Amino acid sequence: MAYSTSPEKKATRGRFRNGSANGSSRRVACLLTAASGIAFFVTLSQGGARANDEKQVVHIQLPASKQARASQLSELGALDVLGIDTSHGIVDVRASGSEISFLAARGFDLSFAPPNSMGTLAFDIQQYLTPEKLAERLATLASQHPELVRVWSIGKTHEGRDILAAEVTSRTGDSARKPAALFNAMHHARELMTTEVAVDIIETLVAEYDTNQETRRLLEDFRVVVVPQVNPDGNARVHSSSRYWRKNTWNDGGRVVGVDLNRNYPALWNACQGSSGDKGSDSYRGPQPASEPETQAMMALVRSVKPLVNISYHAYGELIIHPFGCRTEKNPAQALFTAVGARMKAELVSDEGRKGSYELGAAPDVIYPADGTDVDWQWKEEGVVSFAIEVGSSRQGFQPDYARWRNTAVTNQRGGWKALLAAMVDGTVVVQTTSPLSPVEATVRSVVESGEHAPFDADHATKRFPIRPAQNGFAFFLPAGTHEITFRDAMGQEETQVVTTH
Ligand SMILES: [Zn+2]
Repeated sequence: MAYSTSPEKKATRGRFRNGSANGSSRRVACLLTAASGIAFFVTLSQGGARANDEKQVVHIQLPASKQARASQLSELGALDVLGIDTSHGIVDVRASGSEISFLAARGFDLSFAPPNSMGTLAFDIQQYLTPEKLAERLATLASQHPELVRVWSIGKTHEGRDILAAEVTSRTGDSARKPAALFNAMHHARELMTTEVAVDIIETLVAEYDTNQETRRLLEDFRVVVVPQVNPDGNARVHSSSRYWRKNTWNDGGRVVGVDLNRNYPALWNACQGSSGDKGSDSYRGPQPASEPETQAMMALVRSVKPLVNISYHAYGELIIHPFGCRTEKNPAQALFTAVGARMKAELVSDEGRKGSYELGAAPDVIYPADGTDVDWQWKEEGVVSFAIEVGSSRQGFQPDYARWRNTAVTNQRGGWKALLAAMVDGTVVVQTTSPLSPVEATVRSVVESGEHAPFDADHATKRFPIRPAQNGFAFFLPAGTHEITFRDAMGQEETQVVTTH
């Protein structure tokens, strides 16, 4: 492990060297679907500007039985779910009076007292990073460490704010030819802790560059790109007027409606009832795939940086979620995601101080189906080994008290992202072409026919990857096994290399 969190494992680098319309919607139609398939249609009358005030945070204690729990979870899909803490069986939702009555009638175990003594609303949120404070923080980092940190805007939001990215890498070697890891946070505006985690990644790497040999080597060979706030407009709204705002602030004819950015990506968009077509819903997917400037900016970044791996940070739930968000889409590299996910799981620390207790799986298995998500698009279309992590549990509450939880929360995440970086370093192979080919595309086919390490997969499926330049060839992050990599240039010329990864 070349980039390790556990000192007992020694680095081997040879392989890499070689090779809701809050307040604006008067009537909200709320479709709740039970596991039995019975649909309940509840029409809720809300009082215009007062609608936002009428909703309150409700804690649901799920039943212990797995089947009863799955049944109740499936009934929550149309509600505004803040977080799902599967290990404690607690779900926080924001619900109106009618929704609370409905849940009570359906036998849900509801409570209104916050799960920790600090309370969800007992403190204010001003210590969290606003878009302005984030910009200042990143500018300071770049000016104090120009040899390591570069900051730029990847695009503008509807309200004209910059979406900022930071790249951390040493200025040794040809930075443009270094393979990259990507971390992003706050697709969802109200998930305040996620930006803190992303900024901590930058600050930890910078701090460790002089003191930690593995971090220094990592930053010599790789780039780490971090987008701490995908949704700065939404976050500004959270700080100014609407504490539980989740979406961006797309304005539909003079009315702020907002689109759920993590349902707006063009892979599996609107594919499995894992989003809503209702503008009033907090999971409104937008009028068309990739309609939003934030989505477009992230897609352009991914296509330009071509990361090998990614984590998208959300809150809360203590979950590691991998593709795909729809049961209808089979992941052709399940073994790779399970193996990398297990390495992160082993190092992530729960709010109770335990390692190994984050739950790992695809969204429909650990929470509920979700379509049009960034991790699905990144893997399906761009070959990025991409995960979503739900930071923290119900112990912190949905918007944790900053003074009490911020440092604990970001420290608990360090083992996770470091484990992903370690897996990337261990699993990256650099492949050279022997002809003067200028490849524009690569297709990888697994040679192993079946078994645990058959990646793409038992039926000889192939997967397309972008060309990712490395110092001495082209970088691939592949499951253990033997692979045929076919490079293709713009004229259709091909060259095939066989590589074995361990
Ligand atoms: Zn989220």
